[in-house]
Amino acid sequence: MTRYNAWSLLKQGFAGQRGWTAAWRSPEPKSRYDVVIVGGGGHGLATAYYLAKNHGVRNVALLEKGWLGGGNTGRNTTIVRSNYYYPQSAALYDFSLRLYEGLARELNYNIMLSQRGVVNVLHSRHDMEGAARWVGAMNANGIDAELLTPRQVQERVPLLDVSPRARYPVWGGFEQRRGGTARHDAVAWGYARAASALGVDIIQGCELQGFRREGNGRVTAVETSRGTIAADAFGMAVAGHSTVVAAMGGFRLPVSSYALQAFVTEPLKPVLDTVMLSFGTGMYISQSDKGGLVIGGGLDHYLSYAQRGNMPVIRHVLGAVADQLPALGRVRLARQWAGIVDVVHDSSPILGETPVPGLFINCGWGTGGFKAIPVGGWMLAHHIATGRPHDIAAPFALSRFLSGALIDEAAASGIPH
Ligand SMILES: Cc1cc2nc3c(=O)[nH]c(=O)nc-3n(C[C@H](O)[C@H](O)[C@H](O)COP(=O)(O)OP(=O)(O)OC[C@H]3O[C@@H](n4cnc5c(N)ncnc54)[C@H](O)[C@@H]3O)c2cc1C
Repeated sequence: MTRYNAWSLLKQGFAGQRGWTAAWRSPEPKSRYDVVIVGGGGHGLATAYYLAKNHGVRNVALLEKGWLGGGNTGRNTTIVRSNYYYPQSAALYDFSLRLYEGLARELNYNIMLSQRGVVNVLHSRHDMEGAARWVGAMNANGIDAELLTPRQVQERVPLLDVSPRARYPVWGGFEQRRGGTARHDAVAWGYARAASALGVDIIQGCELQGFRREGNGRVTAVETSRGTIAADAFGMAVAGHSTVVAAMGGFRLPVSSYALQAFVTEPLKPVLDTVMLSFGTGMYISQSDKGGLVIGGGLDHYLSYAQRGNMPVIRHVLGAVADQLPALGRVRLARQWAGIVDVVHDSSPILGETPVPGLFINCGWGTGGFKAIPVGGWMLAHHIATGRPHDIAAPFALSRFLSGALIDEAAASGIPH
């Protein structure tokens, strides 16, 4: 694997950029592996990487029906943070943020992590009281968070209308300074390149179409668009299509699939150096390194597998931008898109065993799983390799829907990021 550094850049510059090698291998699938992972988004790729890196399991295939990162991983608004409420979630998401903090160096790939802070704007006394509890819980869980006065909010987001006439009055805010953004494609490509270098076979254009199971129900092979592939263990990380794949295995998941939209404007000079989100409207906004304002909002209101998104949400989100940041009212929108997210009733992920022996799952990150890619991969790899859940992942087992031990993070993960 070519190491990416200043020296190789210089060398390739003098050689006319002709010596770069492909970032990952694209082999034909073999008929048998130790482990097969289905889903070439960030979570599947990170799982394959940590299987090889942490556990020495290198005879691994990663199957992706389209192209790497073509699902939600390449469609999200790139926000990373760990500002959740319950201790179980704090442990999970902060583990992830800490992995992100060292990821560029570990993968030798610039994931463009920018810890520019995530500022939540609060619009009522109730928002303020809720935020005080939230900040207290985060601090008790050992995670950085601070309450902001309206003046501090304005300093962080100068474009925000904090005047007494504002349609959404600003009572204050709270911030996690270690939060921010990372480049989503780079996270997928970085994990793919590092996994491939450790021996993982990355197979794009390979759709899972069914499971082969033996008499005791254990899955022994997968039927794919490129033939039958056997393995000792299987992992699925297919986000918005989790229920579809589960149905192939003959079981149901407490997951609903919705479209979630995002938008980007024409490029502007730097105008926003943090991530801002508003509890009043569910709108959130940041500025990419290319200058475009990256904007997101709430879920579409009905279940769907169509990666388009509908008009009422577009009007609501863009109206909120114009109301709250009036100086942006005449900025032109460049693109709009959607991804299909897997929403669970308690807004927490599902990690670990499925009812099918030999098949393990990572799903249910809903609108907020980009930030969790490192931890999601780490946890699924741990369970597959050791046969037991990692302590951090144990509370997020599917069995919590039988025991009732739900971890309700709707407030932290519901709409804005
Ligand atoms: C508009 C939008 C904004 C978002 N913003 C944020 C944000 O700011 N911060 C944040 O933390 N999260 C955000 N998210 C959520 C985040 O993107 C997802 O939770 C995360 O990317 C899920 O990663 P994944 O690897 O599980 O799934 P995906 O990236 O969706 O990958 C799953 C892969 O499985 C493949 N697949 C499906 N079925 C099959 C099959 N039968 N055979 C083979 N392959 C199959 C798909 O093609 C896909 O590539 C956002 C999501 C969207 C849509």
